[in-house]
Amino acid sequence: MQVLNDFISAVGNTPLIRMNRLSDETGCEILGKAEFLNPGGSVKDRAALWMIREHEKSGALSPGGTVVEGTAGNTGIGIAHICNARGYPCVIYMPDNQSQEKVDILRTLGAEVRVVPTVPYRDDANYQKQAGRYADTLPNGVWANQFDNTANRLAHVESTGPEIWQQTDGTIDAFVSSVGTGGTLAGVSMFLKDQNPNVRTVLADCMGSALFNYVRTGDATMSEGPSMTEGIGNSRVTDNFAGAPVDDAYQVTDQEMVTVVYQLLREEGWFLGSSTGINVAAAAKLARDMGPGQTIVTMLCDGGSKYQSRLFNLEFLRERDLNPDA
Ligand code: PMP
Repeated sequence: MQVLNDFISAVGNTPLIRMNRLSDETGCEILGKAEFLNPGGSVKDRAALWMIREHEKSGALSPGGTVVEGTAGNTGIGIAHICNARGYPCVIYMPDNQSQEKVDILRTLGAEVRVVPTVPYRDDANYQKQAGRYADTLPNGVWANQFDNTANRLAHVESTGPEIWQQTDGTIDAFVSSVGTGGTLAGVSMFLKDQNPNVRTVLADCMGSALFNYVRTGDATMSEGPSMTEGIGNSRVTDNFAGAPVDDAYQVTDQEMVTVVYQLLREEGWFLGSSTGINVAAAAKLARDMGPGQTIVTMLCDGGSKYQSRLFNLEFLRERDLNPDA
């Protein structure tokens, strides 16, 4: 029998899927890692599991303990599922610029959600800092700390990277990914470069983020925004992203993202979120620059249903001059 015994064993081992239209157009194999098939619905299940396990191993988290995190949503969702499976309560701090769907899912999962005003990281009231301070007040509480806890990128060194290497029989030429915490791009890049230093690793950045400039010039200066994407872009270089072996960076506009997301939906049947649109659009740019014959892997980070009220709301798109038919 082939049986998974629990929630945790269902995290990872996601399929690699050919993006047909863009592969045919570019003459490359553009392959998406189907992270939306994780049991909590996103790539962040991996980071959530590795961080909770690390806190358990160190003894910081034990039965009766609480997990606290600051998150744009998906990490919190992963944490809430795993906390239910392991018997811990969790408290999630979220900025108030995220989709309501994510807040609703978190509450349904039993998380205590604290939605706080969106302020820059340098401000003490930033959601990440509030989460850290609150965890400190709990005798048996831990702060998962996805931005600077490198158990996050270790998840991708130990699971995502090896899966991609095996699934492509070691023939991968390039990996491209957007960055929120940087765990995915850093961890996968570290693993792949260890197997073959010639694998090209590339950042896909949304507008209004400092990371494109950081990779291109070494200076984390903000690019012009904003972007309607969620969970990606950053104004600072986190501990997870610091030192990542990244060769190049592309910027992707919201319109390019919307075009890709709607093409995937209407022509290939994939109902996926905005960071996936950024990733696949950047993979296509990279394919055009590298020329035919390359195998390029990217991440299909999460499904579309959390973005019903924004990305899949035509009124919302119209107000921002974004056109799903472009
Ligand atoms: N896409 C989505 C939908 C996310 O929620 C996140 C994480 N915030 C990312 C991409 C980026 O992943 P990472 O944190 O590993 O950089």
